Amino acid sequence: MGALISDSQSAFIDKLFKYHPKCSKLKISHLFFADDLLLFYKADIYSIAKLKECLSEFSQVSGLETNPNKCSINMSGIGEDLKTHICSLLNFAKGRLQLIKSVILGIQNFWTNNYVLPTKVLKKIDSLCADFLWNHKIHLLSWKTICQSKEHGGLGVFSAKIWNTAAAIKLIWMIHLKKGLLWIKWVHGNYLRQFNIWQVQSKVNDSWMWKQIIRVRDKVICKLGDVSNVQNVISKCCSGSNFQISAFYHELINQNVNTQMVWSKTVWDEWSYPKHSFISWLAIHSRLLTKDRLCHMRILDINQHHRDCVLCTFQQQETCRHLFFDCAYSAELWNNVMVWLKYKWKSCNWDSIIDWYSSNLKGKGFMKRIKRMALTVSIYAIWKERNQRIFQQRTQDPATIFRRENPGILMFYTIYTFGK
Ligand SMILES: [Zn+2]
Repeated sequence: MGALISDSQSAFIDKLFKYHPKCSKLKISHLFFADDLLLFYKADIYSIAKLKECLSEFSQVSGLETNPNKCSINMSGIGEDLKTHICSLLNFAKGRLQLIKSVILGIQNFWTNNYVLPTKVLKKIDSLCADFLWNHKIHLLSWKTICQSKEHGGLGVFSAKIWNTAAAIKLIWMIHLKKGLLWIKWVHGNYLRQFNIWQVQSKVNDSWMWKQIIRVRDKVICKLGDVSNVQNVISKCCSGSNFQISAFYHELINQNVNTQMVWSKTVWDEWSYPKHSFISWLAIHSRLLTKDRLCHMRILDINQHHRDCVLCTFQQQETCRHLFFDCAYSAELWNNVMVWLKYKWKSCNWDSIIDWYSSNLKGKGFMKRIKRMALTVSIYAIWKERNQRIFQQRTQDPATIFRRENPGILMFYTIYTFGK
């Protein structure tokens, strides 16, 4: 991809091509972040057409194609019509989670690493990120759950509040070690004198920043029990004499969450499409907005709307459990999948299929990954069919869906594209 951009630099020299407004001064058109590629450009049709031209030029030369299912786009400051137009031009989905992880938290990490910010500000950052992720005021899962690692059932999104606490502990640890820096000598001379950092109390006239540090210290001591526990956890998070903020952050975030979710490797397999994994993750948490939940949240009026499943004709209430496994329609789709996977065993029970998948399909073998993909693809296909029936009055039978969303075909497509 790097070669593509530099070889096609001429496209960006084109006078009609417009850089992203925040990137035009430095003429930034793209950034690499680990194995992700971020492209920036102005949301006008010409610039986007140019970008598309570059991508297809790369495809022609290399024989590789972008996989729209693994790409996402984010736009702001333009009308809905133009947004829809751009999405249809690029055929990329709008991606929120990736943006939160790679950009927004990256910027604020700079600030939280270097300063102890007010709790109010940190809470505001976290709540803005949560609103942005869900794109509406209804948050399907709590920010606390989302911030837990994927192994523990979350999305592994960074919490500004907890990251700032971990960063403050680094400052405290540096003071504890009496590192030979000027500011540490100053702290010892002015604030500590005969006390150590674990005992000292803040005084009324102390600076705001010092009071913040003491406040964070007390919060962490309270959370981990006592000072010696805090010191033990800190030493676990040191590599040589370097305190690692991220290690301490993970200790705090996963504290009191002992159970690892057996299904996390199945749902978040790197070959699965992000949108399939995301919907499966919500389904496993029973947090998709099925009609029972909408009624419970009083968004649907029990007396005015029918609450039955739209996939079958048995007048069953639409719950997550019914929709994905108990429903006759879904059962037929699952049976197709099971036959395709050459399994004699069939199940229409949510818990046992998730358990079975998680315990029998571990490992990185090619076939195992295809089979894992089959689970997330099927959950996504059922949810998509349910939405199409409700919002677009379009229906398709399980056999058609199975042919269209067959994991073997998706797999084939994935291997020959940029995605891992
Ligand atoms: Zn049903």
